[in-house]
Amino acid sequence: CGIVGYVGGQSAQDVVVAGLKRLEYRGYDSAGLAVLADGGLAAVKKAGKLVNLEKALVEAPLPAGTTGIGHTRWATHGAPTDSNAHPHLDNAGRVAVVHNGIIENFAALRAELAERGHELASDTDTEVVAHLLAEAYSACADPAEAMRQVCRRLEGAFTLVAVHADAPGTVVGARRNSPLVVGVGEDESFLASDVSAFIAHTRSAIELGQDQVVELRREGVTVTDFDGRPAEVRKYHVDWDVSA
Ligand code: GLU
Repeated sequence: CGIVGYVGGQSAQDVVVAGLKRLEYRGYDSAGLAVLADGGLAAVKKAGKLVNLEKALVEAPLPAGTTGIGHTRWATHGAPTDSNAHPHLDNAGRVAVVHNGIIENFAALRAELAERGHELASDTDTEVVAHLLAEAYSACADPAEAMRQVCRRLEGAFTLVAVHADAPGTVVGARRNSPLVVGVGEDESFLASDVSAFIAHTRSAIELGQDQVVELRREGVTVTDFDGRPAEVRKYHVDWDVSA
């Protein structure tokens, strides 16, 4: 339902949780986040309100990292439980992904992944994406290219945002039908389902187009279509006022 991604110099946990709070108005049944730190990936996810997630983060703090993603979920496939909450990880725990929308061909993809030895841990349509991204990344070692390859296999409407522990300064996002907005800051970049998630940090934004993939780094963003052709981006200034 709500998505936030961050790469920069600040605590990714703080930026992502604050961004998720600004998206709470959309409604949700669970929340989670993943942070890249110390060469690995750490994730926490909880059913219920964001306060449950914040409590879990106080009890078991994540290692400090400056690249992260977060999600508030409105369940469509699988009950609103901790394990069905996003992010979803691959079996090696190297890839984390959050998703808005529905992957319509998830059942066929689950069966295909199970045949190749993947163990699926949730009842969601989303989890297949984490496993597919991990496979694609191990072949191409390029997070944006892995995302493009996976998107070409997906049917349905989706916004996807992912991180890979081997690419600690990068967040990748993809969009088909559901909205995704990039925030271009100074030495930091943001991704969100809605500009209100990052407007406290930057008002320079790029609306991702249909069937586009974005690679987000501290120093800037690169946008392509699902086949890797560079896409034209239109930066705009968000000039409406932020209410409290
Ligand atoms: N279909 C996904 C799920 O049920 C994503 C739902 C959402 O958009 O929050 O987990």
